[in-house]
Amino acid sequence: MLSEKLKSFINPIIDFCSLEFPKKCSCCETEYVDFKHFIEQTTPIGSVTGGTPDGSVKRDIFGILSWVNCACGSTMIISCMDVQKGMYQIFKEVVINEAQTQNTTPETILNEIRQEIRQKIVS
Ligand SMILES: [Zn+2]
Repeated sequence: MLSEKLKSFINPIIDFCSLEFPKKCSCCETEYVDFKHFIEQTTPIGSVTGGTPDGSVKRDIFGILSWVNCACGSTMIISCMDVQKGMYQIFKEVVINEAQTQNTTPETILNEIRQEIRQKIVS
């Protein structure tokens, strides 16, 4: 179960992500007109951005929220978290605290948030 505090991030996250649309898949050129369309047509993938060994990509637990597969199979990333760095930091802390409180991992919490976001958008 997500805490009320975490749930309060869901609407702002949806708002930020929505700003990125319309968005085009660079592989098959499918255009996603809005976030809802995107969520309906794509499959969430991966768990967590593990980063690269050389450090050129930092490990980011929020990869779980933003990586999806286009219908063509290519990976697309929504970078909604980058819009407001301040909020990203707060959100990160809340997720990590919540994971500790529930004796689980941030990844589990983020999976729940992802489900919640997707459900909210398509409903
Ligand atoms: Zn595609």
